[in-house]
Amino acid sequence: MPHRVLIAEDRQTTALIMSGALQEAGFEVKVARDGEECLALVRAFGPELLVLDLMMPKVPGLDVLKKLKADPQTSHLGVIVCSAKDFKTEIEQARELGAFAFLAKPVVPGELVGLAERFFSTRAPAQAPTPGTLPGAGEVFLPQVQAENGTARLWGTRGSIPVSEAAFVRHGGNTSCMEVDTGTERLIFDAGSGIRSLGLSLLQGGPRHLHLFITHTHWDHIQGFPFFAPAYIPGYRITLYAPVNTDKDLESIFRGQLDRAYFPVQMEDMRAQLEFKNLGDEPVTIGACRVSWEYTVHPSPTVGYQVEINGRRLAYVPDNEFLKGYLGPPDALSMAEERVAMHAGLIEFLTGVDVLIHEAQYTNEEYPEKIGWGHTSLANACLLVKLCAVEKWIVTHHDPTHDDTFLGRKLTLTRQLLARLGCATQVEHAYDGMVECL
Ligand SMILES: [Zn+2]
Ligand SMILES: [Zn+2]
Repeated sequence: MPHRVLIAEDRQTTALIMSGALQEAGFEVKVARDGEECLALVRAFGPELLVLDLMMPKVPGLDVLKKLKADPQTSHLGVIVCSAKDFKTEIEQARELGAFAFLAKPVVPGELVGLAERFFSTRAPAQAPTPGTLPGAGEVFLPQVQAENGTARLWGTRGSIPVSEAAFVRHGGNTSCMEVDTGTERLIFDAGSGIRSLGLSLLQGGPRHLHLFITHTHWDHIQGFPFFAPAYIPGYRITLYAPVNTDKDLESIFRGQLDRAYFPVQMEDMRAQLEFKNLGDEPVTIGACRVSWEYTVHPSPTVGYQVEINGRRLAYVPDNEFLKGYLGPPDALSMAEERVAMHAGLIEFLTGVDVLIHEAQYTNEEYPEKIGWGHTSLANACLLVKLCAVEKWIVTHHDPTHDDTFLGRKLTLTRQLLARLGCATQVEHAYDGMVECL
């Protein structure tokens, strides 16, 4: 039985594009031209998923959503809200009313199909096998890990400086580094000490053109580069990307850490082809990946990255001081507050990502002493995650003074804070070697 999807959209061309894409993907689709017809079709057609335009004649989208959620017969209905990006308040309200996802106009058919498929894959009730279909005694059930778009692997999850004592062994002690392996392309984010082991693993095989995206050039994000084995091997090509630094150009910064005063070999000894690029306004496309970026709040020009592969979105933001100087409870704040609204660019950038890798380096007890150091307090980070409505948050850039026991307690507190905020995002702590499927 195909899944039933109702599209509520008054513009005929948009409705045709959307219904065409969904039908092609195997869904049964009906279209309502206004809010009134939408409510009628919800009853008559019984859709499992509604794609709802916010600007519609007769009954506006938000009112339709309120009515559906208030009625126990229809409150379970999955809703993807669709609107131009600047209707921020409406989008926020829709989210609070339980909309499953937001789709920006103009609609990209692939994105819509991706969201619909995600909805059904996460909501589909487990099908208990009926007695007649039970497997025979000889059949072995062998489920496989699903990673169609590749994997992201964290090679370094510590902030500031590496640590190595036994009390840190569970989370690991290497500084920032993440690898995205799509099967054909290899993207690397940051070159903290974790990049040393990554470099050794790359020598086992894989593409020879590596793309290295640097969030910023503080030590903990570049200190592993002199130990990155592929850089010394002819035949490798490494393209480095970083935000513009007003004091020094990117190549000089990397050349500087290979100065004789600091290191026995120099950049001339690196036999790979090295290219240094400043990030431009446009996202970087590498195979099926689209890498975009946004500035974060941190001393020196710093960005967070987002990788999009076939509609799956993963964001990597290891250093960001959200709500700099705010020491109060997170519940009291909303987008209406100036101190929150000033982060609107980053919030919009991160809204709805599937996996957010973001720091929460300081506890609320520690933060008053660390204001302006460029890192977020735990409670403020929880609020950011709530505002961005991400599906999963992986907390990284652990403080070098936080050992495994301390981090265990901190994670429990994080879960309690998210629950207090009414935020359903799953949260986990990053550790060196952690792999996430894309
Ligand atoms: Zn850092
Ligand atoms: Zn930094």
